[in-house]
Amino acid sequence: MYKVTREIPFCYGHRLLNYSGKCRHLHGHNGRVEIELFSEKLNELGMVRDFDEIKNIVQVWIDERLDHKMILCKRDPLIPMLDQLKEVYYLIDENPTAEAIAKLIYDYTASQHLPVAEVRLWETPKSYASYAAEKVR
Ligand SMILES: [Zn+2]
Repeated sequence: MYKVTREIPFCYGHRLLNYSGKCRHLHGHNGRVEIELFSEKLNELGMVRDFDEIKNIVQVWIDERLDHKMILCKRDPLIPMLDQLKEVYYLIDENPTAEAIAKLIYDYTASQHLPVAEVRLWETPKSYASYAAEKVR
């Protein structure tokens, strides 16, 4: 099994609903996501995928959709206020935990037909959450 990993730094804000820790308040992270692709065989160039291909597909999407945005649960009562202030945000169905954001990026990567094994979202330099394909050995 071959694997390649591309690292993509991005900044995001969020807050967690129904949570008593510090992350219940609006705040931001200097996040770092690792996109890990896998393949049993290498392509004609001897690669799983070109690192630039991951960059061009996933980093462009992250830069446009998530970077410097608030990532919020669609049930967050703050949304009408953000609309009123013409603030930008990205809504997801779940509480925007590091786990949920890792799965969001995993799902996008998979939707682009990249053979993604795992996505790791480093929320801080010491903590990451990951989402992985079930079938990768
Ligand atoms: Zn946080």
